[in-house]
Amino acid sequence: MALGTDYELQDCALARALEVVGERWSLLIVRDAFYGVQRFNDFLTHLGIPRAVLTARLNALVAAGVLRKEPYQWSPLRHGYLLTGTGLELWGPLYQLSRWGGRHATEGGPHHLFAHTACGTDLDLVGGCPTCGGAPVPPTEVVMRPNPARAGSRREDPVSLALVRPHPLLEPIASAAEPA
Ligand SMILES: [Zn+2]
Repeated sequence: MALGTDYELQDCALARALEVVGERWSLLIVRDAFYGVQRFNDFLTHLGIPRAVLTARLNALVAAGVLRKEPYQWSPLRHGYLLTGTGLELWGPLYQLSRWGGRHATEGGPHHLFAHTACGTDLDLVGGCPTCGGAPVPPTEVVMRPNPARAGSRREDPVSLALVRPHPLLEPIASAAEPA
């Protein structure tokens, strides 16, 4: 799980955080969990990553207390992956990092826009609601939608298809194996 001895020697909270979410794919898995992805195969097809890598990253995020496993089917037993309280605290950093990427590292702007569910106002750069003011909006009160300025997604995995419509964060995205 640790990134290596260089990081282990860093007595720094940021280095500790990167040991948890700094490996390739880890933060994208967390992002997908905020989108409502819970099942292994949905992470797999949406992220397009090797199965073994996904298994390793999920296990590491569970071990770090960011995700927890919860049964969604008993016979045969199948587990989904849900954000813990610790994991939910990553919404702010994840959102702000995403906005940073949209400003400096993405041509054409973000693929998704995020708004305060209660009033429909798009979140500001730090994840707050300009209309309601005050503290950053928690992910349970955020709805995402495709950015109309971007060409529609041509991806046809179940998660991408679900996200062509407005979608509350954390609302489970049903697997393709089951009726929506
Ligand atoms: Zn608002």
